[in-house]
Amino acid sequence: MALTSGLGGQLSIDLGALARNWRALDKVSAGALTAAVVKADAYGIGIDAASKALHAAGARFFFVATPDEGMAVRAALPDAHVFILYGLYPGAANLYIRQNLMPVLSSMSMLEEWLAKCVERNEAYPAAFHFDTGINRIGFRLNEAGLVRERIEALGYAPQMVMSHLACADTPNHEKNRTQLALFGSVMSQFPGIPASLANSAGLMTGRDYHFQMVRPGIALYGGRAVNGRKNPMQPVVTLHVPILQVAEGRTGETVGYGAAYTLNRNSRLAILGYGYADGFFRSLSGTNQRPGGKVFIRGKLCPVIGRISMDLTVVDVTELGSDLPMPGEGAEVLGAHIGVDDQADAAGTIGYEILTSLKGRYTRNYVGDGRLPE
Ligand SMILES: *Cc1c(COP(=O)(O)O)cnc(C)c1O
Repeated sequence: MALTSGLGGQLSIDLGALARNWRALDKVSAGALTAAVVKADAYGIGIDAASKALHAAGARFFFVATPDEGMAVRAALPDAHVFILYGLYPGAANLYIRQNLMPVLSSMSMLEEWLAKCVERNEAYPAAFHFDTGINRIGFRLNEAGLVRERIEALGYAPQMVMSHLACADTPNHEKNRTQLALFGSVMSQFPGIPASLANSAGLMTGRDYHFQMVRPGIALYGGRAVNGRKNPMQPVVTLHVPILQVAEGRTGETVGYGAAYTLNRNSRLAILGYGYADGFFRSLSGTNQRPGGKVFIRGKLCPVIGRISMDLTVVDVTELGSDLPMPGEGAEVLGAHIGVDDQADAAGTIGYEILTSLKGRYTRNYVGDGRLPE
């Protein structure tokens, strides 16, 4: 595919696909509210554009990690409900209140600071409570549930929501899912009548038992694979074309790239891409003679990366294209319909989340479509 402007790469973000993914998940979780997780710049695609498109699709509840991200959503969407997963930053309660951001409280010190602010201002500012049911990360410990309940009962305070997070949702049969579900039930019983939320994308896809009153998908919105070992039903959202700078010949026995890590075993045609690890193309996608690396899609065929990926350049073997060789300036698809986020992740030994959140290269971004339903 030809690049639309000059020699630069093009990252195309399909906001229509993002919106369709949200609607599809909202259908699966019917009966529960479907939030949208837009932390880390909406998994790399851009928090402002993503939040607006998701809102147009129908999303009203947004989760981010930091208060800065929360302010970005607030600036884009004056009426959205915004949860801050990192909780309350010490001394920042006034900022949260001014910006109408809800902390996801996860420790006694956060809880005390928030309640003190509510008492000081004589107003029950909304917050969620996060309980750790077995992932051992952020959250109140299970044995703190009674204490949390005592503290809020004394003040007549009720949280907006009680939530937890699954450790193994990408593996639906993992017994830890059932264990966490049961422990979450025991937490919920301490907070009768309070809405509950447990599921990320994979939990949402695992089954109704995990939905409760709100689901919190992230990766599936962006087209990534949430559940291992199943066909991914989501539509791809990102397409990245990078420029072919040059097409060269290489002879049998010559080596390619730093460290001479790949030796040509035939006379070859090489496409040199203006794209490297500084643009988010993981060095672990390098190809050696012992271990194949990543692939890119050129002129209808998947072509292998050979040699080490360097900071700005990657070499691809295009010999198999025969006489249908690409022209300098033409684009090579690195992510898109022919080679997906999870294909690259699998080849790099990582997950789609890391591929997406590494999209920060030297290419232009184009947003196509929006969140509205087609007429
Ligand atoms: C990131 C995150 C999610 C979204 O997870 P996905 O696997 O991307 O769907 C949901 N809940 C919490 C607490 C998170 O940190």
